[in-house]
Amino acid sequence: MKINIDPYAGFCFGVTKVVDTAEEILHRDHHLYCLGDIVHNAKEIERLKNLGLEIISYDQFLQLSNCKVLIRAHGEPPETYRQALVNNIKIVDGTCPIVLKLQSKIEEDYAENRSAGVQIAIYGRKDHAEVRGLAGQTGNNCIILESEKDLDKIDYHRSIFLYAQTTMNPDNFEKIISEIRKRLSEAGIPASMMKCTNSICGQVSGRIPRLKKFCQENDIIIFGSSKKSSNGRLLFRQCKNVCEKTYFVSETSEIDIEWLSDARSIGITGATSTPRWFLEEIAAFLHNQLTSS
Ligand code: SF4
Repeated sequence: MKINIDPYAGFCFGVTKVVDTAEEILHRDHHLYCLGDIVHNAKEIERLKNLGLEIISYDQFLQLSNCKVLIRAHGEPPETYRQALVNNIKIVDGTCPIVLKLQSKIEEDYAENRSAGVQIAIYGRKDHAEVRGLAGQTGNNCIILESEKDLDKIDYHRSIFLYAQTTMNPDNFEKIISEIRKRLSEAGIPASMMKCTNSICGQVSGRIPRLKKFCQENDIIIFGSSKKSSNGRLLFRQCKNVCEKTYFVSETSEIDIEWLSDARSIGITGATSTPRWFLEEIAAFLHNQLTSS
């Protein structure tokens, strides 16, 4: 039986960057605060905590002063930076450059067009840190679209500037765009009333076709990810659509050896927040199980 690790799996560029930054500081200072989970992966968090990373909540952040705090790849709203200034907190900004660019675009579009009554709409999960950071660029004067049911919140007689959280499903974003166009057309309003920015990250959308190919090439797929990762849920569903025998695991202990029966090749992959070392741990676990049985 062959065990294949997806060559394209592992941290995305933004997560690699912030984890490298944290490690560099931790090797020198042995302690660093991070506002929120540095990555949606419990195992990687545990590893970094052992090096001295201390994850803090927003309430804890408000109580701190005269220290250094890392901002994770999802970014933060402007209010967090203002608060840091007030409390003499040095921000180590690990915001992914792609998210940073999107924040700036929303901030500029909002500043330039707010007087004309433009509506800023963001397709994403309202409780997601990245979305809070994006919404903060408008002073939370925007519409969050979690699904098509939220489209009723839009006033179709005013201009719409539409963006997406970087890790959303590209197909579902297309459906949102089509539905808005349909509603504009039904109201006799030109499609140009909506200006759409495709802000889904290439590290997510570009991975989907490669992931599908990897799933076609293997009999079963073990998908390693933390349950908290929205990108993990998205990519897992993509795998499951191609290979019915795709199994989601957060720990090697969740692997049922029965899954492997009749398989000639096992593919191991994961989310953009899954460390490569965890995929290697899964491979080693499978190898041990198969050679000892
Ligand atoms: S998924 Fe893309 S936007 Fe999000 S952190 Fe990774 S590289 Fe940055």
